[in-house]
Amino acid sequence: MATFKMPALFVGHGSPMNALEDNAFTCGWRDAAAALPKPRAILCVSAHWETRGVYVGATATPETIHDFYGFPKALFDVRYPAPGDPAFAHRVAQLVQGSKVHLDHGRGLDHGAWSVLRVMYPQADIPVLQLSLDTTRPGAFHAGLARELAPLRDEGVLILASGNTVHNLAEFSFRDPAPLPWAERADATIRARIEAGDVAALADWTSLGPDVQRGIAGPEHWLPLVYAMAQRQRDEPIRLFNDEVIGSIAMTSVQIG
Ligand code: ZN
Repeated sequence: MATFKMPALFVGHGSPMNALEDNAFTCGWRDAAAALPKPRAILCVSAHWETRGVYVGATATPETIHDFYGFPKALFDVRYPAPGDPAFAHRVAQLVQGSKVHLDHGRGLDHGAWSVLRVMYPQADIPVLQLSLDTTRPGAFHAGLARELAPLRDEGVLILASGNTVHNLAEFSFRDPAPLPWAERADATIRARIEAGDVAALADWTSLGPDVQRGIAGPEHWLPLVYAMAQRQRDEPIRLFNDEVIGSIAMTSVQIG
């Protein structure tokens, strides 16, 4: 009997304001969610939870974390009241054999998770867990850890990775959204590696040339892409969406499966 495999997603989240806006990017997120069967749970790997060691959120009622500043009050008023699932968090921790996954019993949801989820699943009725990023570890470590999560896709779990492929805030200008030439070149290089399903090259991003390295100001917005791409089983389709560069940020998003 063929079992259904839930697709996996990498979403370029960009500005937290997307949580409140109705734009081309949020349309892309909404359409992606609408085309999937309803997940039984969502395991989110967000750029905005960096740790030493690997943690999974095991909170029954995770709070909405407003981990930014300088944005309108309306954004601080957003609550995303999705339930957690401590029993599932235990299952995730047991599933991963290659490294120790610790439980975090107090973890809420950061904006890398909720700014996207609020658009994709506004009813907030699907349990959400977050998996942290140990950004002290190399890309190959993350690819290996990500592959150990793949069986969850057969259980109706949506692996939702949230970051940005090109993310250089130091060169970003709110006044001028025109794509910077190097950022467009970086996006093209990255898209080619994504479409080739080349997880090894994506995990070893310093091999992708100076434009890509300029776009990866820190590993935290990049590594979620590795988690999504490592989900790919033989011959699974790869679909790019929201493929647009704003200044020095790419919103490029990927569906696997
Ligand atoms: Zn971010």
